[in-house]
Amino acid sequence: MVRTLEEYALENNIPIMQKDGIEFLLDFIKENNVKSILEIGTAIGYSAIRMALLDKEIKVTSIERDEQRFSLAMKNIYDFGLADQIELILDDAFNVKIDKKYDLIFIDAAKSQYIKFFEKFKINLNEHGYIVSDNLSFHGLVETNEEIKSRNVRGIVRKIKNYIVFLKENEEFETTFYSIGDGVSVSIKK
Ligand code: SAH
Ligand code: MG
Repeated sequence: MVRTLEEYALENNIPIMQKDGIEFLLDFIKENNVKSILEIGTAIGYSAIRMALLDKEIKVTSIERDEQRFSLAMKNIYDFGLADQIELILDDAFNVKIDKKYDLIFIDAAKSQYIKFFEKFKINLNEHGYIVSDNLSFHGLVETNEEIKSRNVRGIVRKIKNYIVFLKENEEFETTFYSIGDGVSVSIKK
């Protein structure tokens, strides 16, 4: 059950998409007739499973570098009977070379590397494809003026801000930002 995955993620601190965020993404996929998806950051397979459950014709390729999460995702996908729709790759996304093109690329991995993910995988986009990015708000820390104590968190927030600027100033892609879930953006080739 989808609920079981949500509970597991909550109990084990697995940062799956927030409720409004995933609902937004699922609506977007339906409305735009998206059939092929490349996801960077599988975790336990929650978002991949939700997307695949929308339609039998939807195919998801998802990359995860953490072996434990990957194994759990494999099991979950099996349990949902979605092994024919979801292909998982265990590796660091930066080591993976994919030739295929997708209707949608969903970036939901290490927040400090978003510009690099975007640059690496934009060639895998179909002509009228979309790049969706999650966690651009990073628990509200991107918008806050308060001082952030942890140096590590400060670094991530700075990188996300850089990514937002990168998207805003991008000459190839037009991006819309949504304050939904933990902050979601949709980029479309101009
Ligand atoms: N999309 C999932 C949540 C992903 S959480 C969902 O909503 O259900 C982010 C995941 O990205 C983590 O499990 C982390 O291990 C993985 N990750 C981070 N950087 C990565 C990289 N460079 N390559 C592959 N996976 C990465
Ligand atoms: Mg996320």
